Amino acid sequence: MESFDGLGLSGQLVEAIRQLGFEKPTPIQEKAIPVLLKGKVDLVGLAQTGTGKTAAFGLPLLQLVDESNRATQALIIAPTRELSVQITTDLERFSSPIMKLNIVTVYGGASISDQIKKIRRGAQIIVATPGRLMDLLSRKVVDLSAIQYVVLDEADEMLNMGFKEDIDEILSTTPKEKNVWLFSATMPREVREISKNYMHNPEEITMGERNQGNENIDHQFIVVDERDKYMALKRFVDYTPDIYGVIFCRTKIDTQKIAEHLIKDGYSADPLHGDLTQQQRDRVMRSFKNKSLQLLVATDVAARGIDVSNLTHVIHMNMPDEMEYYTHRSGRTARAGKKGISLAIISKREMGRIQQVERSIKRKFTRMNVPTGDEVCQNKLLALVHKVKQVEVNEDEIDSFLPEVYHELKDLTKEDIIKRFASIEFNRFLEYYRDARDLNKSDRSDRSSNFEGEGDRYSTSENADRVFINVGKMDGLEKGSLLDLVCDFGEVKKDAVGKIDLKGAYSFFEIDKKFTEQLLKGFEGIELRGRKVRLEMTQPHKDKYSEKKKERFYGSKSKSSADGGNSRGGSRSESRGGSRGESRGGDRGRSKRY
Ligand code: ADP
Ligand code: MG
Repeated sequence: MESFDGLGLSGQLVEAIRQLGFEKPTPIQEKAIPVLLKGKVDLVGLAQTGTGKTAAFGLPLLQLVDESNRATQALIIAPTRELSVQITTDLERFSSPIMKLNIVTVYGGASISDQIKKIRRGAQIIVATPGRLMDLLSRKVVDLSAIQYVVLDEADEMLNMGFKEDIDEILSTTPKEKNVWLFSATMPREVREISKNYMHNPEEITMGERNQGNENIDHQFIVVDERDKYMALKRFVDYTPDIYGVIFCRTKIDTQKIAEHLIKDGYSADPLHGDLTQQQRDRVMRSFKNKSLQLLVATDVAARGIDVSNLTHVIHMNMPDEMEYYTHRSGRTARAGKKGISLAIISKREMGRIQQVERSIKRKFTRMNVPTGDEVCQNKLLALVHKVKQVEVNEDEIDSFLPEVYHELKDLTKEDIIKRFASIEFNRFLEYYRDARDLNKSDRSDRSSNFEGEGDRYSTSENADRVFINVGKMDGLEKGSLLDLVCDFGEVKKDAVGKIDLKGAYSFFEIDKKFTEQLLKGFEGIELRGRKVRLEMTQPHKDKYSEKKKERFYGSKSKSSADGGNSRGGSRSESRGGSRGESRGGDRGRSKRY
């Protein structure tokens, strides 16, 4: 399709969106607009994020509502406040040059009385989050009796967020003779049920293969130790000075912590998650949108559907648990035909997830290397040089200041001047990255850390118990076989088991606290080669002491056990400092260099 002409939209509307830079329709717009303009139709539209769904339903809706009728004719329901506001903003941009519509947004966390006032003034279109709408309905503020159109945007996400009952309630209180337009990125069973229960022979428009990734997204990943993730992130950001992106974390706590670390380390970053007040979230989104904020650190829910143009990167601090979240996350970049990078910072354990996602989105990931210290410095320097080349010289005004400057520099050669000027910026980074070690995780298999769940980066002991077991290398065990043993008898999954320290006659391993009791039970009465297998909890903060004691008790002097003890102690302190490490020179003093 060459243009918006011919889809049935009014000339005025086509002209209004052309002014906004919408020259030709996206595929979902091309298909959905003519269907929806028929007026009496239910529709299920499945399309990836960033494909222009708002205009796909918004433009027909604007054409169909009666401007002269003050009654509420259309209801748009979206999962989050951010999305609702965004939809309203879009609809206002489309319609304001040609018509006077009253579009009201309602959402939780903001003054309900203000929203009530606005609705009472006559809202032809209400854009709402499900919870607040229910609230307003129960206060009998919203009159749905004249509703002709109900749009469910991001339906799958609303169901994910537990709004099923609210949506059922809303759909069953609206008049029977209405049109329901449902948009979703995916079609899980619950969405299918809504279409069955509340829609009549809906037309179904599916764009591309479901779940198929956006072609313009370059999917990349790097593999590092769990404890090095933050450092890898920093390297990457330093290496990419013009980065403008969203960093996804799985939990609110992680989101907050990563953001705080970044801020402390001097980056332009802020968190976005559900524990912030609406005012805080608004402020963060505003500064992110106007680019005074470079990095937004967000949870999946908080960032769902955020439409910010020109993001260069989406960064995943871990692979999301839900396959679909990956699509939603990466869909924040490469919007409206632009290109973008989706970079996953993963531990070895997560590599299987990469393959799963590859199969699901039918796109290949490229494995990248964490930039080395030298590469970061080189890039920083180049960025500086580019800036110098591009700077606009204000000839007239600088002239009078220059003689003195020339005089000061007259004894320096051109080369000297370049060197010195470059060093101003460079020294800082060089200092910082001089002894930066290689963060890339090699392909050599090692099971030194399985337990890499949430929170592990900061303190393993919060989530895990450390357990002593009276079997070890001398029983012919390796880390893998010990892990199998623990999982078999303890009846726990592998990912519940953390770091394993294999010693001579005994070993230690970490277990997710949730499973400790079950594990200890499972081992009751178990024998290995005629020896009773004994488990014992250790005190997390008395590791060294208890280990020494054990060593004396068992008389194990084997080299391996001493080594094991040292390296474990080493990695402990490193993982503590690790998340903050580089700024304090945490990389320094290690033997490995680039
Ligand atoms: P979705 O809801 O499918 O995730 P949006 O409706 O938010 O996607 O649109 C994504 C971006 O693409 C928005 O910034 C929007 O302004 C832009 N856009 C949508 N349709 C067009 C079009 N036909 N031409 C140019 N840009 C468009
Ligand atoms: Mg949308």
